[in-house]
Amino acid sequence: MKTPFISKEQLDKITVQFPTPFHLYDEKGIRETARAVNKAFAWNQGFKEFFAVKATPNPTILKILQEEGCGVDCATDVELLLSHKVGFDSSSISFTSNDTRPSEFVYAREIGATINLDAYEHIAFLEEVAGLPETVSLRYNPGGVFTLGTAIMDNPEESKFGMTKEQLFQGYKDLKAKGVRSFGLHAFLASNTVTNDYYPTLAAQLFNLAVEIKQELGISLDFINLSGGVGVDYTPADQQNDIALIGKGVHRVFDEILVPNGLGHISIYTELGRFMLASHGHLVTKVLHLKDTYRRYVGVDASAVNLFRPAMYDAYHHITNISNPDGKLQIVDVVGSLCENNDKFAKQRELPEARVGDTLIIHDTGAHGFSMDYNYNGRLRSAEILFQEDGTAQMIRRAETPEDYFATLYGFNFDE
Ligand SMILES: *Cc1c(COP(=O)(O)O)cnc(C)c1O
Repeated sequence: MKTPFISKEQLDKITVQFPTPFHLYDEKGIRETARAVNKAFAWNQGFKEFFAVKATPNPTILKILQEEGCGVDCATDVELLLSHKVGFDSSSISFTSNDTRPSEFVYAREIGATINLDAYEHIAFLEEVAGLPETVSLRYNPGGVFTLGTAIMDNPEESKFGMTKEQLFQGYKDLKAKGVRSFGLHAFLASNTVTNDYYPTLAAQLFNLAVEIKQELGISLDFINLSGGVGVDYTPADQQNDIALIGKGVHRVFDEILVPNGLGHISIYTELGRFMLASHGHLVTKVLHLKDTYRRYVGVDASAVNLFRPAMYDAYHHITNISNPDGKLQIVDVVGSLCENNDKFAKQRELPEARVGDTLIIHDTGAHGFSMDYNYNGRLRSAEILFQEDGTAQMIRRAETPEDYFATLYGFNFDE
């Protein structure tokens, strides 16, 4: 069963200090997860987690992860700029982009980020626009479907990311001929997996490939990046991944495949976003209105602009009524104010009676939550608040104001 990371008394103090809605992050939980990930892979000398910045692009959060020894993975020049300004050094920034602009490769080279190429065609493009660095990683897409046992996990064949095996081998050959000296391999084959077998299965595939690359091309890879995809269980069943077991599983195939083939030096990298942060964020919102028609609607002061996943993917997010946890159960739709009927945080969900003014917690919003926010209907982005280890709250991003919303417009004077 899902429980909030904060007590009612602690949260009541914060909602007096800061108006809802806001995203709240749990510093203690973030640090614990980062430590658990580092511990799970401590057997690998060069291990590093490169947090996927897109999941939670807030400098304060990135600094916490930096203090825990993590690096960052960026997809765009602005994410690179953010990471650089936060103070990550070149060895702690990777750049996994696709459909990349020339200026982005130039900037990635300028700050020394490790470039992970999405396309075979990008080898020539990178060389032309920014020159080739000493180290290059290539992103693999095996095609077909990715399965664990009999379960189909995802469909790489339909994915725009990565390159074929032939392109991968040709790519390493080309790069080596052009003087590149250090090589990585990357693949992201399934999203939000809730199974301890995803990483070990993926790792075995990539490790076998590394052996083939060594045998065929005489290239010993320096690192293998298992990317993201280790997920969280958003449902109340709360059957979470066990990162210690996942680390052990990868260790086992490392010892089985890489070590006997003289590749025991390879560093393992991860680029987890969701697993690092999702469960350490709550979207905190208050009940504005109750409405009874063919259903009962609980109208809250957050909307899909503050958390897009339910509207976009029909994703389940657990909801706790922290003001009335023992209220009589009712079947309701929890909705925001957008002029779109998919603006629903819950559909026909059984919840303790919600009363006007109650505080609701929407769980697991720490990754791909605030970062997917938008401005539809003139709704503004919320604040982000850090619930610190000492029990105090610190605002780490203010809420937008109407002035922010109008700031980029020309041909109209807001002040007149
Ligand atoms: C989104 C993304 C990640 C993070 O994925 P999660 O599922 O949040 O762990 C990592 N690497 C790349 C290249 C991504 O696009």
